[in-house]
Amino acid sequence: MMVLTKKMIEIRNILQRVGQSSTLSLPSIVVIGSQSSGKSSVLEAIVGHEFLPKGANMVTRRPIELTLINTPGSDAEYGEFPDLGLGKVTDFSSIQRTLTELNQAVPASQCVSDDPIRLSISSPNVPDLSLIDLPGYIQVVGHNQPLELKQKISELCDKYIQPPNVILAISAADVDLANSTALRASRRVDPRGERTIGVVTKMDLVDPMRGYSILTDKQYPLRLGYVGVVSRAPAPASGLFKKGNANLTTAITKNENSFFSAHPLEFGSESEVAVGTSTLRKKLMHVLEQTMSASLQSTSDAIQQELEEATYEFKVQYNDRPLSAESYLAESLDGFKHSFKQFAEEFGRPQMHELLKNELDQRVLDLLAARYWNKPILDLSPPILEPDNLADLPKADPESIFWHRRLDASTSALTKLGIGRLATTVVANSIQSRVDQLIGQSSFVSHPYARQAITEAASSILNDRFYSTSDQVENCIKPFKFDIDMEEREWAQGREHVQGVLKRELAACEGAIKDLETSIGGRRKLKEVLGFVDKARKGEFVVEGDNSIGAGGFSAALLAKGREAAFLRDRAEIIKMRLLAVKSKQCANMKNKYHCPEVFLDAVATKLASTAVLFLNVELLSEFYYNFPRELDLRLGRHLSDEEVEKFAKEDPKIKKHLEVIQRKELLELVLDKIESLKQLEGREREKGGGK
Ligand code: GDP
Repeated sequence: MMVLTKKMIEIRNILQRVGQSSTLSLPSIVVIGSQSSGKSSVLEAIVGHEFLPKGANMVTRRPIELTLINTPGSDAEYGEFPDLGLGKVTDFSSIQRTLTELNQAVPASQCVSDDPIRLSISSPNVPDLSLIDLPGYIQVVGHNQPLELKQKISELCDKYIQPPNVILAISAADVDLANSTALRASRRVDPRGERTIGVVTKMDLVDPMRGYSILTDKQYPLRLGYVGVVSRAPAPASGLFKKGNANLTTAITKNENSFFSAHPLEFGSESEVAVGTSTLRKKLMHVLEQTMSASLQSTSDAIQQELEEATYEFKVQYNDRPLSAESYLAESLDGFKHSFKQFAEEFGRPQMHELLKNELDQRVLDLLAARYWNKPILDLSPPILEPDNLADLPKADPESIFWHRRLDASTSALTKLGIGRLATTVVANSIQSRVDQLIGQSSFVSHPYARQAITEAASSILNDRFYSTSDQVENCIKPFKFDIDMEEREWAQGREHVQGVLKRELAACEGAIKDLETSIGGRRKLKEVLGFVDKARKGEFVVEGDNSIGAGGFSAALLAKGREAAFLRDRAEIIKMRLLAVKSKQCANMKNKYHCPEVFLDAVATKLASTAVLFLNVELLSEFYYNFPRELDLRLGRHLSDEEVEKFAKEDPKIKKHLEVIQRKELLELVLDKIESLKQLEGREREKGGGK
C-alpha cells in the first residue's frame, strides 16, 4: 500500500512546480504548535536526526515543506534542497545550518515569510510522508521582536491549516489542553475534529493518570485521535547523536518504551490510548494516504480543467506550434548563421576595396586641399591651355623642380599615412557594424545576453587578428613608399574616378552653402554677409576687437557663418576649376602628371587599396569567415547549460509565454498520466485485498 503514498507525494511535488493554486495540490500534513511545545522534537524523532533550527529566539520564519522519501535497501541518508541546487547533503548538521541561514535571511521587519523552503530527506528509516513545519505560535512577544509577530505567525498558520490538509496539532502534556494554541487554531478551521491529529508531548512530565486523562480528552474529541509521546532523546545520548549521523529514532523509542511500559495500567496494550513515536508514524502514514487518496479524484478533475485551459490557450494563441528552449536557440542560431553566410557571400574583395578607396579618397582630398588648393591659388595650368576659360590664368612651368617636389611630397604623405592600420580598422569596423545589423534583424534582437555574446565573438576574432593584419598590409605596401610604377590604363582610370570624387565634393560644398543660406535667412542676407566678409578680408577695413561682438551690423554668430560660407564658396570655385583641368586634354596624358596631382594621387590610392585588400582578404576576412560561426557555436551552443538556455529563451517575453504554456501543459499531462496509473494500481491493490 505504501507505494501509493510515495507516488502521491511525487505527484504533489510535481504539482507544486505547476503553480501555487491550492486546488491543484494534494493534501499534506501541517504541523502546528506553540513554541517549546516539543514540535521540533516530534519531527526529529520521526526523521531520526536533529536537523531543525534551534535557538532561544524564534528561528523558524518560513514554512518548511518537508518530503520524506523511504528508500528501502539503501544505506544512504541525505537531504536535498531542490531550489538551491546544493545536491545531496549527507551531513544533517549542515542541513540544520542551511535551514537556519534561510530563516535568518528573512528580514526582521517582515517577521515571517510564506515562501516555503523545500527540503526532501531520503532514508531507509523514514516513512513516505509530506509534512509542512510552520513557525511555532508565540504567547508573549519578546522585547526585541516586532509587535505584530504574533499576529503574522498566526495568519501564516491559518493559510496552511485549510482543508484538505491534515493538521498535526502539538500540545505539551504539562500545559492544560484547553490552553493549547494549536488545538484552538485547529478547532477554528476543523470544528468537528475530522482532520486533526492531536499529539501530546512531554508525557513523562505529568503523572501517568493525568497523562491518561489528557489522551482520552472529551472536550475536543478528534476522529483521528490523540497520540502521547516522549520525544526527547535521553540526555547523554543527545550530545552523542548530534555529532554522528546515527539514528535518533531508536534511542527515543527505547526511552519512550521504557517510560510507557513502566505504566502498563495507563498505557499498556489493554489501554485504549495511543502512545509512542512509532504509533504516531504509522498513524501519519495511514492518515496521509487516506487523505491523499480521497482528494485524488477532485485534484485530478481540477488538473483536467487546467489542462483544457492550457490546451485551449496553446491552440488559440500559438496555433499548436511546438517550441522548446533548445529548439528556439538552435533555430535562432541557425537563422543567424544563415544570414551571416549571405553577408559573407556579398562582402569580399571588391567591397573591401570600395570601402578602403572611399576612405583614401577623403585623405587625397585633404592632401590636395593642404598642398595645392590653398590660397592664393597655385596655378597648375601648363603653358598652352584650352579651353578658353582657363587661358587667362598664369602658367606653370612643367620643368620646374617646384612642382616635382610638391607631387613627390604629396605622394609620400599618402603612402606613409599608416595604410596598414587604416585599412584594417576600416574593414574591421565595417564587419563589426554589419554583425550588429545582422543581430538587429535576427531573433537575437530581444536577447541582451546573446547580443553581447555575438558582439564579443566578432570583436574577439577581429582584435586577435588586428595587429598581424595591419603589419602585413603595411609591409606589402612598402614598395610604393619608394617608387610608383604607373601604367597608362591606371592613369586613365584615375582620371575617370577622380572626376566623380571631385563632383561629389563639389556637391557637398554647395549643399553646405545652401544649408548656411537657410540658417542665415535667405540668399540676400547671405550675400550681404559675404560682401562684408570679403571686404574685410581684402583689408578694405579692419574688423575691430576679437570679433566676438560682431561688426558691420552683423552679430558674431552671423559673421562666423559668413566666413564659413566664404570658405566653402572659394573651395567650390577651386574644385570647379580643377574639374575642368582634370577633364582637359592635358590631364589625359600621364606625362603631364605634375599638372594633374588629382589624377596621380587617385591612381596611387587605387594601387594602395588593391594591394591592401589582397592581404586583408587572407589575413582578416577569410579568418573571420572561418572562425566566427565556430565562435558562435562555442559561446551560444554546447557551452550553455540547460538553465542558461532556458534563461536565454525566456528573455524574450513572447517566447517566455509560449514556453510556459507548453511546459505547463506538459507537466499537467504528466501528472494526469501518473494519477491515472496510480488509480489503476489502487484498484489492483483493492482487488488483492478483497480476494484475501
Ligand atoms: P519546539 O519549540 O516546539 O520545537 O520545542 P522543542 O522540540 O525544541 O522542545 C522544547 C523543549 O522541550 C526542549 O528542551 C526539549 O528537549 C523539550 N522536550 C521536547 N519533548 C519532550 C518530552 O517529550 N519530554 C521532555 N521531558 N522534554 C521534552
